[in-house]
Amino acid sequence: MRWVALVGPPASEARFFASLLSARMGAPLVSVHKAAALERAHRTFLGQQLDAHAAEHAGELFPLPLVAQLLRPPLERAARSESGMVGANFPRGREQWRMLRTFAPPAQVIHLTGRPAELRGRIAHRRVCAACEAPMYPPPEAMAKAAAAEAEKRSVPRSAALFSHLVEAGCVEPSPRREKTDEGAPLDTRWAVYEEKTLPMLAELRESQATKVIDVEIDVEPDETWKRILKACDLPYA
Ligand SMILES: [Zn+2]
Repeated sequence: MRWVALVGPPASEARFFASLLSARMGAPLVSVHKAAALERAHRTFLGQQLDAHAAEHAGELFPLPLVAQLLRPPLERAARSESGMVGANFPRGREQWRMLRTFAPPAQVIHLTGRPAELRGRIAHRRVCAACEAPMYPPPEAMAKAAAAEAEKRSVPRSAALFSHLVEAGCVEPSPRREKTDEGAPLDTRWAVYEEKTLPMLAELRESQATKVIDVEIDVEPDETWKRILKACDLPYA
């Protein structure tokens, strides 16, 4: 069984690339974000606890007992899967790593890296598609013009033309939405989590050689980043 985790700073789109990789490998996706969104949408008791935590501590990691409750079912499923599993910006710290270790054999961790100034610039423009959850960014100028013309022709909201999906998506209703955690104090907290929890975990993993940690530099072209991720996983680009 093969287990791969993709982690990275805000705007690295680790979660999104992990979902692509999970589809590519035919392996279950293990995502705190996805599992939490489901519980919160269904207003379960766990979902209400997550809501309460998020309201008070936006941008912070959920406490480990909540994460354990969230991830036990997908991790148990994944541990039985023949095709491995893909961690979507998980594990993000030592505690999460220790929890994961009880379910899965030592893993390969891909760390998406980029210059903080560039990532901060990207996040200022970042949107998420309300229809398909994919990240959206302003397209290059020529593409933006073509998209605006197309939007006019099809009488879809002009806002949709100002942002495009990070990679081509079969999405019929592109709807860019600004994420509350992409700005202000919640964003600062997310950076702090990355610097104070994720980076020390990676350093510890490298040192102990508990797993293979591979740095993959983010390119301005998402397709190039995707190519590099596949290469790190010994998978062909096709
Ligand atoms: Zn979409």
